[in-house]
Amino acid sequence: MSKVYFIKNPQSDYSQLGKDALKLLKKIVSETGHEFAKEVPLKVHFGEKGNKTFIPPEAFTAIINHLKEEGVSPFYIESNVLYKGSRTTTDVHLKTAKDHGFTQIPIIIADGEIGTEYEEIEINKDHIKKCKIGKEYGKFQQFIVLSHFKGHIEAGFGGALKQLGMGFAARTGKLEQHSGISPVVRAKKCISCGICVEECNYDAIEVLDTAVIDDDKCVGCAGCIAVCPEGAIVNTWDGKNFLEKLAEYAYGAARNKDIIYITFVHNITKDCDCSSKEMKLIAENIGVLAGKDPVALDTACLDLVQQNSGEKLFEKGRPTLKHAEKIGLGTMDYQLIELP
Ligand code: SF4
Ligand code: SF4
Repeated sequence: MSKVYFIKNPQSDYSQLGKDALKLLKKIVSETGHEFAKEVPLKVHFGEKGNKTFIPPEAFTAIINHLKEEGVSPFYIESNVLYKGSRTTTDVHLKTAKDHGFTQIPIIIADGEIGTEYEEIEINKDHIKKCKIGKEYGKFQQFIVLSHFKGHIEAGFGGALKQLGMGFAARTGKLEQHSGISPVVRAKKCISCGICVEECNYDAIEVLDTAVIDDDKCVGCAGCIAVCPEGAIVNTWDGKNFLEKLAEYAYGAARNKDIIYITFVHNITKDCDCSSKEMKLIAENIGVLAGKDPVALDTACLDLVQQNSGEKLFEKGRPTLKHAEKIGLGTMDYQLIELP
């Protein structure tokens, strides 16, 4: 059984929620004898441009200040996203982060300028043999993963496991989870500019009437998705076993790392912070939860949301928890410890 710590606080005062998060962090540190490294990356999600319900930077200020007082240098870490948007490449991603107020500490985008830099982590699980994790993540052993618990169209919900599995993955790793390997060209959007041909290091694209991808040559690096100026190259989102692949990527991302997970169960929307539209809230705010077992933490968040709402919200994502438990990432058996 894993311990999950909880402070109930439905108020949308992010400065106070940040203090609650710090209280949970200190509790875990004292319980486990955790000693911080000199540099500690804070894994966050900056929110897509237009999204209004991501967890704002004020919620992280108390933790940042505490780490600095302890002589630790914190910085934000993230990776580029799979699809065309305001976080596709490092330059626009950093601008979005800045526009959303994430200016307190430096930011590292872990998978390179266009999301193609990664290290392979061999896990040999049912669906994934080697995870492609953003290169910079490999330089650090400790992380604080700060998550927002809310719905997700494919994963059911997004929390700590999604931050690990999708959030740590380089673009090619995201593609591997979401689909087969090759992206596809939407012929109507393609203007035959050839930029993707120059980007592809595998000679897998040629421009005939429009660009065409050779599935036999494509290794799924997803670089072409990032560089196409027309957004004509897309992922097919037809991934089989997506929920289990997500769990396996989370396993690979967390392997041999020392991670404290803190999750804000606030601003609960049907879709995730990758959505650029303004969304209405579909459940009551609950508070902040934390622990060192991401499976236990996500299970506790899911159970609390369902108990509080009286509905089976986000149940679609429970298979991810079961598979994560099966492969040894953590346990769904948790003890919820409420702090005042
Ligand atoms: S970069 Fe995009 S628009 Fe240009 S040829 Fe490739 S798919 Fe077509
Ligand atoms: S995903 Fe990578 S390997 Fe495949 S066509 Fe695009 S750039 Fe080439």
